[in-house]
Amino acid sequence: MALSGLDIFKLLPKTNCKKCGRPTCLAFTMQLAQKKANIEECPDVSEEAKAALAGAAAPPIRKVTLGGDGRAFTVGEETVLFRHESKFFNPAGVAVTVDDTLDAAGLTARVERINKLSFVRVGVTIQVDMVAVRNVSGKAEPFAAAAKAVAGATKLAMMLVSDSPENMKAAVAACASRAPLIHAATPANFAAMAAIAKEKKCPLVAKAPDLEALAALAPQIKSAGIEDVLLDLTMGDIRSTVEALTTVRRAALKKNFRPLGYPAVVFAMRDDPFEEVAFASTVMAKYAGVIIMSCTEPWQILPVLTVRQNIYTDPQKPIQVEPKLYAIRDPGKDAPLMFTTNFSLTYYSVEGEVEASRVPSWILAVDTEGTSVLTAYSGDKLNEKVVAKAMQAAKVEEKVKHKKLIIPGHVAVLSGKLEEETGWEVLVGPKEASMLPTYLKTIWPQHAPKN
Ligand code: SF4
Repeated sequence: MALSGLDIFKLLPKTNCKKCGRPTCLAFTMQLAQKKANIEECPDVSEEAKAALAGAAAPPIRKVTLGGDGRAFTVGEETVLFRHESKFFNPAGVAVTVDDTLDAAGLTARVERINKLSFVRVGVTIQVDMVAVRNVSGKAEPFAAAAKAVAGATKLAMMLVSDSPENMKAAVAACASRAPLIHAATPANFAAMAAIAKEKKCPLVAKAPDLEALAALAPQIKSAGIEDVLLDLTMGDIRSTVEALTTVRRAALKKNFRPLGYPAVVFAMRDDPFEEVAFASTVMAKYAGVIIMSCTEPWQILPVLTVRQNIYTDPQKPIQVEPKLYAIRDPGKDAPLMFTTNFSLTYYSVEGEVEASRVPSWILAVDTEGTSVLTAYSGDKLNEKVVAKAMQAAKVEEKVKHKKLIIPGHVAVLSGKLEEETGWEVLVGPKEASMLPTYLKTIWPQHAPKN
């Protein structure tokens, strides 16, 4: 039975400690009652209270962990339609296909390419999560052989794609420790597929011609003993797919409609690689849990992973770097010193350009609560006093023998006050980070201390 707001409030610690990111326990209660928060966000809640709250606070979209003893990831358990209402919690997984018609060398080469689809962006590693082995041959033996070979060649999570229970049984047996995601249980084969999933403790994708049939099928799979269900919401074109994803998300969140309260799987493969990237990026934003692609080129995968990184960032907490003095390329006491803000995108833009210039330098990341230069300046989070304090905290006087500070061109207006506040000479740097290499190689040498 659902608990009232008052019931929920009584179970919380009522210390108003703010550790959950809300100002009071009452505010947290309201969000729990509206299913916009997760009870795990309160670190001090008792186990008894958690158990009592489980029904009321359980997210309307089931959380499912994929990956077995490989590299696992979690999808689902989302609580909002729009990220600005709270945030999206569990980033969608990106899977890349491997067909069982490939010969051994071709399969190994493709999996190696997939393993390398890993990038560092704004200081964070973003990478592909899963390999989807497709039973294109239609036969059990090559499907099982491909599943076994993939399991041996990657630690990524695995998915097996076949409508044949017989072929699926053979392939699952070949990689059972990976608890592969089984695709798919249909109205025609769900009993057999559910039996395989139950025996090997694998998650199972439900697939039906339309949402009505899917809403009938998912409870049947659950009744067969499978809790970890996902829904295939690929509906042909991009518009129909987004409509289905939105309808299901709304039904789960707004109506608490349990038959469709599961993460979604979408096949984004297209003949045109650009269209595939656009399709995958669109369903990443709304509201896929696992996206299957056929591309293995970095230029195709990186945009999708970038969308994911942006969509799943907490909109209330910008990605930040630690505010401190960073040494680039082992700078000495003659090296230039510049400051920027601790907003990750800003900091890494500056760092990347300084690295590219090959000029050893010091970069002071000033704490502006993760906001960019102009945003921080207009919100008075970046002024002469804040910069002076950051310089003192970082002991910059001990790091360089000159007293020259390069400031972002966008805040040239700070020059006078900053010179008064610090006693340092202020040099106005470029407005855009992309101009830093030229600045460091041509302008800075005119100001650098002479030995
Ligand atoms: Fe209350 Fe828990 Fe939030 Fe602290 S973390 S304010 S105790 S709900």
